[in-house]
Parts: sequence; C-alpha cells; structure tokens
Amino acid sequence: MSLFKHLFFKSHSTHLTITSNNGFHLRPVAQFASLAKSFPSKITATFQKKTVDAKSVNTLLSLSLEKEDTFTLQTQGKKADEAIEALVTLFETLMQTDIQVKEVIKTASDYEGALIAGDIIFEGIAIAPIYHYARKEVQHENNASFQEALQSSLNELENLYLAHKQEDNATIYLAQKELLTSLGEKSETLKNFEHLVEQEANTLLGTTLESKRADYQDILQRVKKHLGLEIKVTFPNSPFILLGDDLLPSEIDALLDTQVLGVILKETSIHSHTAILLRAAGIASLIAETEDLHQNKTLILDAHAGVVILAPSANDLQKATRRLEQDINKNTLSATRRFEVATTTQGKEIKVLANVADVHSAKIAKEEGAQGIGLLRSEFLFKANKPSLETQQKAYEEIFSFFDDITVRTLDVGGDKALPYIQIPTENNPFLGVRGVRLFNTHPELLEEQMHAIFMAAGEKAIKIMFPMVSSVEEFTQAKFFAQNVAQKHHLNISNIDFGIMIEVPSVLFLLEQFNEVVDFYSIGTNDLTQYLFAIERTHPSLKVDALSPVLFSAIDTILQKATKPVSICGELAANKAAIEKLVNLGIETLSVSPKSIAQTKELIRHV
Ligand code: PEP
Ligand code: MG
Repeated sequence: MSLFKHLFFKSHSTHLTITSNNGFHLRPVAQFASLAKSFPSKITATFQKKTVDAKSVNTLLSLSLEKEDTFTLQTQGKKADEAIEALVTLFETLMQTDIQVKEVIKTASDYEGALIAGDIIFEGIAIAPIYHYARKEVQHENNASFQEALQSSLNELENLYLAHKQEDNATIYLAQKELLTSLGEKSETLKNFEHLVEQEANTLLGTTLESKRADYQDILQRVKKHLGLEIKVTFPNSPFILLGDDLLPSEIDALLDTQVLGVILKETSIHSHTAILLRAAGIASLIAETEDLHQNKTLILDAHAGVVILAPSANDLQKATRRLEQDINKNTLSATRRFEVATTTQGKEIKVLANVADVHSAKIAKEEGAQGIGLLRSEFLFKANKPSLETQQKAYEEIFSFFDDITVRTLDVGGDKALPYIQIPTENNPFLGVRGVRLFNTHPELLEEQMHAIFMAAGEKAIKIMFPMVSSVEEFTQAKFFAQNVAQKHHLNISNIDFGIMIEVPSVLFLLEQFNEVVDFYSIGTNDLTQYLFAIERTHPSLKVDALSPVLFSAIDTILQKATKPVSICGELAANKAAIEKLVNLGIETLSVSPKSIAQTKELIRHV
C-alpha cells in the first residue's frame, strides 16, 4: 500500500458517552471542536446514523447529545492516533469538570392571590410593576463590510472573555466566539449568515439544548450591531420586574445599569447562558409560563418559593416585604464584613485589592470591600474604537475617585489580547512577540496619549503605574523615560507617581538585584508567569498547567526573598482558595483579586 493510501486509510474510532447532566452543550463543545481543529486529520462524530464534522461547533451541537447518549468519534489520516488520544482525554476532563447546576429547593409558599409556579434561576424576592421586554432594530449609518463586522464581533468576544476571565462565566464568550467562527466561515453575506444561524438554531428545537438557541441569536445580533443595525431596548427609570420570552446573554449587561429587581422568562432553561449570567449578576429570576399580563401591573416574584403572585393581596405584599427584608439583612451582614480589613490569626494584616477593567468594575470593587485597585487592566477602556484623550481622562478620573490606592497598568495588547485598530504584523509566536511594554516602540503615539490621560487624571494624587510583560531592565527604564518625556512635554509634574513592573516573564527573576535599583514596586502576574515558566499557552484548549505547581511557589518565594521593593500578586493565584495560606506564609502582604472574590479572599486570610 502506498504511503498516501496508508495515511488516507489510517483511522481510529471510539465511543464516548455523555455523563454530564447538562449534555454536550456549547461550552464543552467549543473546547472540543477547537482542539479537533488543531489536528490535520479528518475528525467526525456519529450519533443515530448522523455523521458530522467534529471540528465545527454548530454541526457538533446539531447532534443534540444529552446525558447518557453515546456517540462515535472517528479520526482519519495524518495524526489520527494523536488526535483521538487528545480528544478522548479532553472529553473526559470536560465531562468531569462541567459545572452541574443544582435545582434550587423551593420553600413553601402560602400566598392568597392567584399564582404561577416556575423554575428558580436565582433566589430572591422582587415586588414591582412588570415591564414587557421588547426589542426594536435601529439602523445607523455604517460602511462596514460583513467580513469586517464579523472580525469586530470576534474581537469583542475575545475582549469580553479576557475582561471576565477570573469569573466562572468567562467561557461563555469563548464558546460564542467558536460558534461565530464556525458559522462565519461558511457565510459571505449577512443574508447567508442569518439564514445559517436560523437553520442551525432550529436543529436544537425540542432538545435539552433548546435554550442555547439564544447564543445563536446573540452572535447574530452582535454582527448586526457592527453593521450598524442596533437593537434598541428602553427600560423604565424606576424599579421593575422584567417579563420576556428570553433574554440574550449580551442583554444582561444592559440590564445591570437599570433598576431591575427581578426577571421572569418563559423560554430559557436553568442551564442556559442567560441563566448563568443572571446568577452571576445576582438578579432574582424565574422561568415561568406567564399569560398576558398588563404592563405596569404590580406583582410579586418570589424566587425562593418559585412562584409569581399575579394578583397579590395586602397580606401577600406584607409577607413578601418581610421576606425581602430578611434577604437584605442577610446580605448586609456579609457586606459589612467585606469592609473590615483581613487579618490573619497571627494578627498580620493582608491588603486585598481589586483587579478591575473599567468604571463599572471599579464601582463594584468598591461595593465589594476592596481596599484599592491592584491592577487596572487599562486595555478594556480602549475597546472597539480608540477613545479620545478626553474620554480616557474622564474614565481614569472616575476610577481613581473610588480609592486612594491605585495601580494602573499601561496598555497590554498582543498575544492573547487584541485591539481591532492595533495592527501587529503576523507573527509565528504572538505570545513571544510584540506585546505589553514592547508597544512603546511600535505604537508610541497610542502610549503617549494614554500616559497623558493618566497623568492629567491623577493630578496630584499619588498613583502607581506599572508596565506589563517587562523582560529586561532596559525595557523598564526606556518606558519610564518615555513617560517622563510625555510629562515634560505637557508641563506636568509626576513626582507623585510611582513606576513598577508586572513580573510575568521568568527572566525578571534573575534580574531582581538590578530591578531593585530602578523600580518602585512589583506585581506578580501569575497567569502569564505560569505560561512562560512551563511554555504552555494560557488559552491552550487541552494543555493545562498545574496552577498550584511547587515551581510557581518557588518562583514567588525567590521574588519575595530578593525584592527590596513592595511585592503584590495580581494573577488568578491570588484568589485561589488552595493557595492563599501558602502565599501568606511565604510573606506576601498584598493580593489583588477580581471584585467578586474580595469577600471570600478576606475570609480565607482570616483563617490563616
Ligand atoms: C497575569 O498575567 O497574571 C495578569 C494579571 O495579567 P493578565 O491576566 O491581564 O495578562
Ligand atoms: Mg499578564
């Protein structure tokens, strides 16, 4: 047999059974397809006589695999053996680690008014007039082509993933990105794309994955937005309970800025991405088949008992109000403790700061009890279009106003972080290429404007500025010199500003004596430091590093031993339950974590 034939016929197959209660849903499917794509082999999945391409998210999803379904995975051709082995390992991990949403146990209810029962998404009570959710399409002037809109949408999803990456729900954005890639590749015009989205989403009808149809609508809406077709929704400017068929995951963000007290949806499921995001937002919410209700009618949403009281009596309103007060008291108690400092059992105070990305997350950090900002990921202020100097200055001013202790990181773009208007020539290894502090050389005008905005926003306030991805002392001194020149050019005094570095590149560990001479502080970025210590890309779909590897702790220990300037940690390790005690024992005194992890991190420190 010729080599060609041998390669062509080389095929492996195995049977895989879904063990997660959630079925083989979008997030694991996206990771699976992404790994499959990295192999040159032909890879298919077969279920009930239907064979599909396992490299495509939407065709895999169209198999609607539910718990206990068994499908056949087949790999054929070049690297078929490696592909099957890697995919089986990943599949097993995905099944084991898939977060199982537990049904909330309902409390008893004794309301007098007529009620409808439903499934609880997130517990809580809401008493308010209802507001019917309706969408309106508005066309703005826009010259973007379909391909440009597609690319902007993919970039936006990537940025959303990065902005939320310390939260459990971050993979939703990655999964949507994979879905968009897979449908986008097959479309040349918006019309094709719309048709394909509808067709593929319809294959989920009647399956347990039906609620994932919202993700299809969501990606369509995102692309349309970049073509100027904006979906407008107006909300009341007084408290309300939102009533709708379904919400798109992207619409939850808009809800956060309103006075919404509760959400009742007809067509989602407790496993949907919409439900995951409602839980993350902490909004009392229920899935219930409500009939037509008049706009503005006041009702009770009791998402402890899992009911909607359609015509509440005076007694019902009293009962629900009492229950609401109990909830508020409980939350107030834990919130109060969040604002206390965190002291170990030995009486050592550990500062807990927040990693934030914009004004909104800085505000949340304040409410969650952060003692300052340990990492402002400034790249998220830049988004799809470059903000003007004034817009940047205003954002920094607002963020700085929340705390006394502020550390801003200069633009960290490149590698896993893209900005649509920054063109970095194609590189074989973007993670080892133009990124972080290296942008000072390639995009000086962008950095100059950012520096200028930060300096003006800081005024006389003492803030810290840190440079990302620094690998040599020269990179730091040049960036600081650049900053000083910007200040001089604009006649600004920056003696109130400290300059430091993120420790993310292993070379810094061997240069600490020299760095001690020039920097004012260090912040360890364990996310990137881990990736470079082990040469495993942090977004790699199948290769995983042990986040608690002794190697990492040894690196941190070295830094703490050699550094003569303050050291903090702002990578994800800082909020890792299993790491906090070790980090404190190594001598770390400042941790910077996502706003939602502040209360828990403080509580863990109190037990060290
Ligand atoms: C890090 O690398 O640990 C870090 C905090 O920075 P980012 O995750 O934004 O790259
Ligand atoms: Mg980093």
